[in-house]
Amino acid sequence: MNKTIGYAAQSATTPLESFPFERREPGSSDVEIDIQYCGVCHSDLHTVRNEWMNTVYPVIPGHEIVGRVGRVGNGVTRFTTGDLVGVGCMVDSCGTCPDCLEGLEQYCQRGLTLTYNSPDTHTGTMTYGGYSKRIVVDERFVLRVPGTLSLTGVAPLLCAGITTYSPLRHWGVDSGKKVGIVGLGGLGHMGLKFARAFGAHVVLFTTSPGKTADARRLGADDVVISTNPDEMKRHAGSFNFILDTVAAPHDLDALTALLERDATLCLVGAPAQPHPSPTVFNLIFRRRQIAGSLIGGIRETQEMLDFCGEHGITSDVEVIPMQDIDSAYERMLKSDVKYRFVIDLASLR
Ligand code: NAP
Ligand code: ZN
Repeated sequence: MNKTIGYAAQSATTPLESFPFERREPGSSDVEIDIQYCGVCHSDLHTVRNEWMNTVYPVIPGHEIVGRVGRVGNGVTRFTTGDLVGVGCMVDSCGTCPDCLEGLEQYCQRGLTLTYNSPDTHTGTMTYGGYSKRIVVDERFVLRVPGTLSLTGVAPLLCAGITTYSPLRHWGVDSGKKVGIVGLGGLGHMGLKFARAFGAHVVLFTTSPGKTADARRLGADDVVISTNPDEMKRHAGSFNFILDTVAAPHDLDALTALLERDATLCLVGAPAQPHPSPTVFNLIFRRRQIAGSLIGGIRETQEMLDFCGEHGITSDVEVIPMQDIDSAYERMLKSDVKYRFVIDLASLR
């Protein structure tokens, strides 16, 4: 019996509440983590409200987890009690398929286990996430956290950080490139920081004029109000890469028109409803592409955390007690997050 406590939604329409439950006892390759902070991702909100139509209740969200190692299994080689560690969106994968062997566990089709709302191969229940006091994770899915960074600002790196770092790297964003980031929320503000750190000329697209000054402080060379067609037109055909983090359906044509020949619009935002179907003409006349990207593999997540340690990059956070989660969701729906809520799990008793 490994009793602990979390905060769970029992249905799509009821507030989250305190929920006692059991974690597995750490097996030989497991690390037990005392969770200190957990970021609040828009995916948590999509899941709690069953917007993706796949939620199994009760659900304990949370996949931006940082804390200290408590107990470790006797086969654990990379971690020891007291280490500062993180866990992101995945806690298991098959480990043997071509995707896993390439370090792209997020694309494992055989045995990917997400940190919450996924069938748990160990317990037979669903996995429960980081809105909780403790979690038990195979050491292959535990990340080392640089000790130099503020721990609250590190938590969001485990999802918002890697989800933006990975596509920016994959599509070769570096100096000399003109890059767009769409949406200034949790993912978007990390996208700005990374694109700037990689040396690109960065333009932020926002629907919130009030975020302009913050966008510049966070790394934008230019800010475009995406609802203003004249401002959009000024950038037509000029971008090497655009990363779209928006959590709601919107017009993609306005963005593909901004790409130069052969350039890519990459979608990471995962709205519950489809975007209006994009016109093919924007694509075929300039051989442009629309792509997608899912978080990042474990090796790249560690690389991203180390990069953040070297460059002093963290998320801008508002720390909240666990009990404020529902009002945090309401603010998130109003695009009013500066720029990631992080739960202090000391508040959960
Ligand atoms: P967030 O903090 O709520 O930020 C989303 C931003 O999108 C908002 O701040 C807002 O920015 C913009 N926005 C919201 N509604 C809009 C609308 N109707 N039209 C245009 N812009 C709008 O959310 P997040 O945590 O960054 O997550 C963003 C999305 O990525 C979610 O759908 C989430 O599930 C998904 N996600 C995907 C992955 C992956 O691996 N692909 C990983 C994590 C999350 P402005 O105010 O600047 O316009
Ligand atoms: Zn997330």
